[in-house]
Amino acid sequence: MRHFAVVGSGPAGFYTAEALAKAYGNDARIDIIDRYPVPYGLIRFGVAPDHQSLKAVSKRYEKVAETDGVGFIGNVAVGRDVSVAELLEQYDAVVLGIGAPHDRKLGIPGEDLPGVIGSAEFVGWYNGHPEFADLNPPLDGSHAAVIGNGNVALDVARILAKTRAEFEGSDIVGHALEALDRSAIRTITILGRRGPHQIAMTPKELGELGHLEAAVPIIDLDDFPPLEADAALEPGQRKSVTILREFGNIRSNKPKAMVFDFFAKPLSIEGSGGAEQVVVERTQLDENGSARGTGETYEVPGSLVVSCIGYSTPPMDGVPYDERGGKFLNETGRISDRLYCVGWARRGPTGTIGTNRPDGYEVAEAIAAAMPPESSGGRAGAEGLLRLLGERGARATDFTDWRRIEKAEEAAARAGSPREKMVRVEEWLQTLGL
Ligand code: NAP
Repeated sequence: MRHFAVVGSGPAGFYTAEALAKAYGNDARIDIIDRYPVPYGLIRFGVAPDHQSLKAVSKRYEKVAETDGVGFIGNVAVGRDVSVAELLEQYDAVVLGIGAPHDRKLGIPGEDLPGVIGSAEFVGWYNGHPEFADLNPPLDGSHAAVIGNGNVALDVARILAKTRAEFEGSDIVGHALEALDRSAIRTITILGRRGPHQIAMTPKELGELGHLEAAVPIIDLDDFPPLEADAALEPGQRKSVTILREFGNIRSNKPKAMVFDFFAKPLSIEGSGGAEQVVVERTQLDENGSARGTGETYEVPGSLVVSCIGYSTPPMDGVPYDERGGKFLNETGRISDRLYCVGWARRGPTGTIGTNRPDGYEVAEAIAAAMPPESSGGRAGAEGLLRLLGERGARATDFTDWRRIEKAEEAAARAGSPREKMVRVEEWLQTLGL
C-alpha cells in the first residue's frame, strides 16, 4: 500500500488526488490535507461569488473526496501543526498544492496606507475567507482605483459596480453584500500599465462589464492602435480587444462608471491618513512591448485602491523556493526526492481552473513512474499523521464534518442564494462541536 499526502484542497490538489486514485486504484491511500475544515480553496475563496457556474466544478471534487482510498484531513495547517519533513516520514510522497494566496507587492510609496488593499484580501473579504472577514474596506468615497489589467481586476471592478439585485443567486457573504449596498463609489478607474492589446482579460469576463445594471465601461478609442493591427492578435485576445472597442461606442447615463485608463503606471499612492489618489505616469510601449514611462504624470482619485497584480506562494520551511517566481523551485513539479508541487505553487499564478487538470495528472504520472503501484513504501500514512496530531492536541476534521458545515451553511442561506458561508474558523468548529 502506498500513502500520498496532497496538501491543499483547491483545484490543483483535487485533480492530483483524482489522478493518483486512478493510477493506483486500491493500492494507494490519498489524503487531501487542508488548513481549514472546509475544502476547495480557490473555488470557495477565489472564484467570484457571482460566477456560480465556475464554482460548480466542486461537484466533481466532491466525487473525488468520496472515492475509496481518498480522505480529507481538514483543520490541519502544514507548517503549523505538522512540518513537510514530518509528512515525508509518514507518506511515500507529498504533493504541495497550496496555491498562491499572497498578494504581490506593488513596491511603490504609499502602498501601506489604509485603503490600499491587495486583491487576495479584497476577494477574500467578499468570499468569506476567515483571514479577511474584518477587512472593512473603505467604500465611503466616490472613487476607487483598481490596478492591473487581468481577470482579477475585472472581478474586483464588477463586484464594486454591481447592485444588490445583481448579487441574487450568488453566495457573496452577508457582510460584503451589506457594505457594497451602502457603497458610495461611483467611479472605478482600472489602471493598466500597458495598452488595450496587452490586456490579460478573457472575452466572457470582459463582456460582462457591458451588461451591468447601474454601471458602464468607459473606453478612450484613442488609446487603441489602428483596427488593422487587431488581425495580428491570437483569436481569444482579438475577441477581448473587439469587446473593448465596442465599449467605446456605448452611450449611457448609468450612474456608475468603470473607466479603463491604459498606459498608466502607478508611481505612488498619496493621502493623509489614508489613500486619496494614485500618482500615475503615462507610459508607452518600448521595442520589447514593456511599459516605458514618458515622464508625464497625473493623479487618479481613489480612497479605495485595490491592486490586482498577481499572487505568490508563501515559502515553507525546508522547501526550496523561487523568490522571483513566487513559487516553489521545481522541475516539472518535482521539488526533491518524494516531494512535489502542483498548480500555482508549481507554475505561478496563471491559467484557468482547468489548467490544473493536466498539471495534476502530469505530476501524478511522474509519482507513479517513480513509485510503482506494485511495491510498498511501508509508511504509516493517515494513521501515523493522525497519531502525531493527536499527541499535539491538534483536532483534524474529515469530509463528513465538512458535510455538516455545508448543510449548516445551506440552511442559513438568504432567499435565492446557495449558502451563507460562515466566515470564522471558530464558527466551523462550533458547528462540529469542537
Ligand atoms: P494576471 O492575469 O497575471 O494579470 C495581472 C495584471 O497586473 C496584468 O495586467 C499585469 O500587467 C498587471 N501588473 C503586474 N504587475 C504590475 C505592476 N507592478 N503595476 C501595474 N500593473 C501590474 O493576474 P490575475 O488577474 O491576478 O489573474 C490570475 C490568474 O487567474 C489568471 O490566469 C486569470 O486569467 C485567472 N482568473 C480567471 C478568472 C476567470 O476565468 N473568470 C477570474 C479571475 C482570475 P502586465 O501585463 O503589464 O504585466
